[in-house]
Amino acid sequence: AKEAGRNGYRCYDVSMRERAVRVLKIQRGLQTAVEDGSLSLHFQPKHHGDTGALVGAEALLRWCHPELGAVSPLEFISVAERSGQIGRLGEWVIREACRQLRDWHDRGLSTVRIAINLSPLQIQQPGLVEVAAGIVGAAGLQTSQIMFEVTESMAMRDAERTTAILRDFRAHGFDFAIDDFGTGYSSLAYLQKFQVRQLKIDQFFVQALDEGGHEPRAIIAAIIDLAHTLGMEVVAEGVEKPAQAEVLRALGCDQVQGYLLARPMPAAEFERCCLSGEVA
Ligand code: C2E
Ligand code: CA
Ligand code: CA
Ligand code: CA
Repeated sequence: AKEAGRNGYRCYDVSMRERAVRVLKIQRGLQTAVEDGSLSLHFQPKHHGDTGALVGAEALLRWCHPELGAVSPLEFISVAERSGQIGRLGEWVIREACRQLRDWHDRGLSTVRIAINLSPLQIQQPGLVEVAAGIVGAAGLQTSQIMFEVTESMAMRDAERTTAILRDFRAHGFDFAIDDFGTGYSSLAYLQKFQVRQLKIDQFFVQALDEGGHEPRAIIAAIIDLAHTLGMEVVAEGVEKPAQAEVLRALGCDQVQGYLLARPMPAAEFERCCLSGEVA
């Protein structure tokens, strides 16, 4: 409070410095994360909009830094993108998701299609589709058992290029979802060209349903209509309240995901709560 001006600047310097130190720690930690067992995947169920039945799961990356503790994927993934570490990290996610799916299969548990998030830089890496198909094949799985999620803003940034990349993935049998839909600026022509399987309505719209106004509901209804017209399924994420789920069901939303139904959870918990055993 004293010497507000000067201290203001000094505070700014200090926090900039702290920020830089944190980024360096994250960057250094990531160098060994793939080998040292500090990474893991959590799984969040995707449920049928009407019946609530399990129809899939989204893999969400978790990282416990030895000193910083749990770091949000939003933070460490953007660091990994800037430091050129995203390739290795993203490959680990695909490999681990396939290993887990294989393990469930081998133990006679019911399995579901797993959705994996791809970061903007990652999907532009040449050869990613071959790497992914190779990992899936080596695990003895089909590419149809894995799908990928890319954000609307990433997909539309260079829509021509995205169209080509998605075509390549589709040729290998992989499906896609457009994530965080409604927050970017979609070209309807490209949305049709992408030929993705799912649109995921951004949580923002789902949570806005709470305010009770007519608008969020009308926007969601319009997205669902659009998606169905284009032959896509709609997933609503961030469903936290029964009233939200109620509106989504009334509007014919195909799948729902959110804390109301289940939080992202470690594999062992996901098995217990969501997968049934074919073998006793
Ligand atoms: P996202 O793909 O949009 O994932 C949804 C986020 O919402 C997840 O946060 C999830 O835990 C959270 N969530 C799920 N249900 C609810 C709910 O009912 N309410 C609220 N408030 N939140 C809910 P998380 O796990 O922290 O992941 C954040 C973001 O990090 C993801 O957003 C995704 O963009 C990125 N991410 C996570 N794992 C990976 C990964 O393996 N690779 C890449 N490239 N990005 C990842
Ligand atoms: Ca996602
Ligand atoms: Ca999302
Ligand atoms: Ca998001």
